[in-house]
Amino acid sequence: MNAYVASVIEYVKKKHANEPEFVQTVEEVLSSISPVVDAHPEYEKVDLLTRMVEPERMFTFRVVWCDDNGQWHTNIGYRCQFNGAIGPYKGGIRFQPNVCPSIIKFLGFEQTFKNSLTGLPMGGGKGGSDFDPAGKSDAEIMRFCQSFMTALYRYIGPDVDVPAGDMGVGGREIGYMYGQYRRLKGVWENGVLTGKGFTYGGSLTRPEATGYGAMYYLQEVLAHEGETIEGKTIACAGFGNVTWGICKKAHHLGAKVVTLSGPDGYIYDPEGVSSSMEKVDYLVTMRNSGRNKVKDYADKFGVEFFPGQKPWGVKADVIMPSAMQNDVHMEQAQQIVANGVKYYIEVANMPTTNDALQYLMSQPNMIVAPSKAVNAGGVAVSGLEMSQNSERIVWSAEEVDEKLKGIMKTIHAMSVEAAEEYGLGYNLVAGANIAGFKKVATAMMEQGCF
Ligand code: GLU
Repeated sequence: MNAYVASVIEYVKKKHANEPEFVQTVEEVLSSISPVVDAHPEYEKVDLLTRMVEPERMFTFRVVWCDDNGQWHTNIGYRCQFNGAIGPYKGGIRFQPNVCPSIIKFLGFEQTFKNSLTGLPMGGGKGGSDFDPAGKSDAEIMRFCQSFMTALYRYIGPDVDVPAGDMGVGGREIGYMYGQYRRLKGVWENGVLTGKGFTYGGSLTRPEATGYGAMYYLQEVLAHEGETIEGKTIACAGFGNVTWGICKKAHHLGAKVVTLSGPDGYIYDPEGVSSSMEKVDYLVTMRNSGRNKVKDYADKFGVEFFPGQKPWGVKADVIMPSAMQNDVHMEQAQQIVANGVKYYIEVANMPTTNDALQYLMSQPNMIVAPSKAVNAGGVAVSGLEMSQNSERIVWSAEEVDEKLKGIMKTIHAMSVEAAEEYGLGYNLVAGANIAGFKKVATAMMEQGCF
């Protein structure tokens, strides 16, 4: 590994020892871009990498809200404006009890390179709160979102920072946050958030975009191997928005999603969750119930439920970890390899531990695709939402879908090309890191040092 790259990784390990997720993603990205740094000694001259691993700005704020029983609660809110070299900061807001600086920073760092890959002018950002939306009433969610936006609104804007949803934040939460932003600012700047409702500037296809994009990317990978998606079995995780989009597209394309998971375990549906739209849409019902239990699917459709287990031991053609970070550890990776799986397509942000990822990538018969490329369709359509908002126009679902397809095709092609340029073969992980990094690095260099 390039000595300068190694020294920056060491610096981050020491300096941010209490932020394990952040250290993990920095190590993964920087080790991939080592050959680029070899070829560009000017990066070391200005110590570009140390600058790149520090967010431009990151802040916390308190979010005080009152529950339905008149009890007051205080949560911590975060926004990390990681890198604005190629466009306004852009990235989701996550509401989950485990949200902390390390998680927000890892997501912001990943987002910087992911957004770069989309080819659209968006910098990297991320935010959230340790608020737990599970079991909260609609009125409690509204009060929390209003309080969150009251603290955040001065620091965002259509040309400054454009938040969106992530885990725990969907269309409803974005609506409440946008309502509060409008009330406080007295302007109708709907370009300030993406993932909005369709009546006030949301883009058609945004809810499906991450899942659809992942399936389009998978199609590119399969085409590269001379295969097609029809009839392929897919093991997925989670049952949120992203997995719903995957199932919906699998239904259209004739692929079979056989597993879903939740905090309570996983379900196995041999006929396929994607076999009917009734099943696909039941994911929305489960999510809206706020129960957060995938067992409900097994009860409803009479399939097997495996309490407390993850679906990675299931035999499938394609594995798509689509739930959360660090979902697949070495033990599960070994099981996946033992099952003879050929396609390991990450969907959630950093779903694989670094050792498991290295192990999977070292398998001669396995193709590994990284989340920052595979799930980029979500933020890409957010970028298209920003374009529609600033032009005051609405594109049809077909127009958005066509553009999304094109973007996913390009991300795959760019990754292939970037890896080949450095003699790495069909290495989609390194290719995505290199392609995403190069654009941000060039923009930072051209804008001068700060
Ligand atoms: N949270 C999503 C992601 O991880 C979407 C971000 C956005 O649309 O800004 O990319």
